[in-house]
Amino acid sequence: MQKISEKPPIIWLNTLVFSITFIVAIVGVPLYAYSVGIGAAFWWVMLGTACFAGLSITAGYHRLWAHRTYDANPVIRFIFAIGGAVALQNSALHWSSDHREHHKHVDDNDKDPYSAKRGFWYSHIGWMIREYQASRYTDYDNVKDLQKDPIVMWQHKHYLPLTLFVNFGWPIAAGFMLGDVWAGLLVIGVLRLVLNHHTTFFINSLAHIWGKQPYTDKNTARDNGVLAFLTFGEGYHNYHHIFAADYRNGIRWWQFDPTKWLIVASKWLGLAKNLKRSSPYQVERAKLQMQLKRAQLKAQAAPESLFERAQEHYDKLGQQLKAYYQARKKLLDTRTKALKEHVNLDIDALKRQVDEMKASLEMQKRSWKALLNQIQQHA
Ligand SMILES: [Zn+2]
Ligand SMILES: [Zn+2]
Repeated sequence: MQKISEKPPIIWLNTLVFSITFIVAIVGVPLYAYSVGIGAAFWWVMLGTACFAGLSITAGYHRLWAHRTYDANPVIRFIFAIGGAVALQNSALHWSSDHREHHKHVDDNDKDPYSAKRGFWYSHIGWMIREYQASRYTDYDNVKDLQKDPIVMWQHKHYLPLTLFVNFGWPIAAGFMLGDVWAGLLVIGVLRLVLNHHTTFFINSLAHIWGKQPYTDKNTARDNGVLAFLTFGEGYHNYHHIFAADYRNGIRWWQFDPTKWLIVASKWLGLAKNLKRSSPYQVERAKLQMQLKRAQLKAQAAPESLFERAQEHYDKLGQQLKAYYQARKKLLDTRTKALKEHVNLDIDALKRQVDEMKASLEMQKRSWKALLNQIQQHA
């Protein structure tokens, strides 16, 4: 039997790829830039390539394949399969299998492949440099659905030659066109790969450590706008872990989620459909529950009456929320029906009712906030 202190063997291929590319990116690239010079065009192509590979992971590997939050046309799937090879993060099948385990067993040190409870290093990169997962990789039974996708299987079968071809071929070709093959390899090849790697890895490490938990504290996932900026919108990870079937991670219009925008744009172009969203009622309810939980923790120092008022207010707000979203749904359904059947249904009265409910809900929310502030002052 393996002793606890005994670590599984090192995976040399991964270790060498991660360390050599990292050293070249932080030493080789600046040295080359200083001694030979690197033209502006290389940086722009690097940025474009990084966005292509990064978005293929977030919109393709993550939201399309791992979570099935929408359906995509074969053209888009093929593009993501190529971008996933550029990102060098294993095949979509393998990646999705790991990721589904992560969601199913989040924070379980034995079952979550990159459990954040094992620390920053482990969840960021450590999990990939030793044979921690060896026993799991004999079959892919948690991604049976993806095995029916010929593009996924084609990419999985030819992943190694594909990733070598794109990771060398494209930087060399771009470098050749821009007049410096070495600069192409260094900037568009290596530096870009390192950036793609570590920004994606941040979602497993930092997005489980740094940020807020507005929706749930049942797992370590956090919402973080800075990380969202670096990860094409995946930084809203607290939301994502509780509503993983939603194609959005940043649900507000002002939240930076270019992956969501790309999916919506694909829908407009007729290349994606069946975009799944969580019910707004469930989302608001989750948020409210967290607010109550926090208030109750703080309310211990506050007078008993305040504590009771918070519970009462929460119940009332919850009921109002439910009624409002039900009425809103009824309004939307009636509107669709009226449009479809070309009949004049009495929408105005319904609309007035919904507007009134909304106004009263806003008022309730304001007094809920005031109550939370009052509790805060006692804490
Ligand atoms: Zn996920
Ligand atoms: Zn996570």
